[in-house]
Amino acid sequence: MKVLVINCGSSSLKYQLIDSQTEEALAVGLCERIGIDGRLNHTPKKTGEKIVIEKDMPDHEVAIGMVIDALVDPEHGVISSLSEIDAIGHRLVHGGEKFTKSVIIDEEVIKGVEEVSPLAPLHNPANLIGVRACEAKLPGVPNVGVFDTAFHQTMEPVAYMYGLPYEYYEKYKVRRYGFHGTSHSFVSKRAMDILGLDPNNSKVIVCHLGNGSSVSAIKNGKVVDTSMGMTPMEGLIMGTRCGDMDPTIVEYLAHCLDKSLEEVMTILNKESGVYGLSGGVSSDFRDLEAAANDGNKKAELAIDVFAYRTAKYIGAYIASLNGVDAIAFTAGLGENNFVVRNQIMSNFGYMGIAIDQEKNKIRGEETVISTPDSKVKVVVVPTNEELAIARETVELVGK
Ligand code: ADP
Repeated sequence: MKVLVINCGSSSLKYQLIDSQTEEALAVGLCERIGIDGRLNHTPKKTGEKIVIEKDMPDHEVAIGMVIDALVDPEHGVISSLSEIDAIGHRLVHGGEKFTKSVIIDEEVIKGVEEVSPLAPLHNPANLIGVRACEAKLPGVPNVGVFDTAFHQTMEPVAYMYGLPYEYYEKYKVRRYGFHGTSHSFVSKRAMDILGLDPNNSKVIVCHLGNGSSVSAIKNGKVVDTSMGMTPMEGLIMGTRCGDMDPTIVEYLAHCLDKSLEEVMTILNKESGVYGLSGGVSSDFRDLEAAANDGNKKAELAIDVFAYRTAKYIGAYIASLNGVDAIAFTAGLGENNFVVRNQIMSNFGYMGIAIDQEKNKIRGEETVISTPDSKVKVVVVPTNEELAIARETVELVGK
């Protein structure tokens, strides 16, 4: 079965065509600048050649049309006809409390996703535009929605309630939801597999460290807590997001800078995190490390603050789980940056956790990086959200 996986944003659309038998991506690509001008990057996996097509993409329907054309193109296509696409899996960001698992998308589901859109006003409407475009361009092909929030819906009120008047939860759905759920689910399952842990009797902490970062605590395969909240702003220090901070700072900065609340929120979202802390060096850790090695103290501080906050969350989640069997690192930074992994894990020597310095040097490969006598296993597991979406899609529409 061939599944087209779509991750649709307001002006971009990422896609992969995945063969569910081999679990390999036949082609990967990205439509950029939709509604501005338009550029399609398409890479058939067989040749690895990156094809760039610049053509007007006034809307997402046109973009999907171009993706389809690229997939069936006689030269750089990977299928001979559209009928080879059996199903489409969509990444949907916010499912609120309504969606606790993946669903086949129908009008009722679309209504449900629209209802929770106020919680993710930038993402959900854009995701649905992608769904509509696929319905128009690939009529009759089933669409499946896989939610970023769904895996975290097992959290109990003790973990998801904020210390706010209860009625705001009832009236406005103000609570913690968590994100990156597809990745936390994929990586925790894989970590249990690799380490031979019993899915029904295990305590795992997953650190998804990328541009956006989150940590989750998973007991017996179910999320007990996760660091992102009502939105992806909460928790760790991220590329450009501030993560946890005293809410009073919002009001105080609005006053100091003579800016509106919206303008301050943009600063906290786009100009903060390690980017802001480093004095604007970069949101990318490769640049930060290079600058730190050249003696840039702010870049060094940004890395230190990031690692310290992550270690604090791991410590907190060991308490949430009342123990831990395994800690897994994933996403761009978690998979590739051994310096940061080492820095984070150096806080847990007291627990008898030890990292094998040689093994830890790997990049992007499934590897147990703890020593054989470490009290807790530490493992690197590359995430694959697209494959996870394709698997869920196959599960729902049948093989
Ligand atoms: P996003 O959340 O945008 O998907 P990623 O998961 O790609 O982000 O993570 C981005 C971070 O991962 C950057 O800080 C970057 O330094 C780091 N990173 C990604 N790939 C590599 C690599 N091959 N080597 C070292 N660091 C990497």
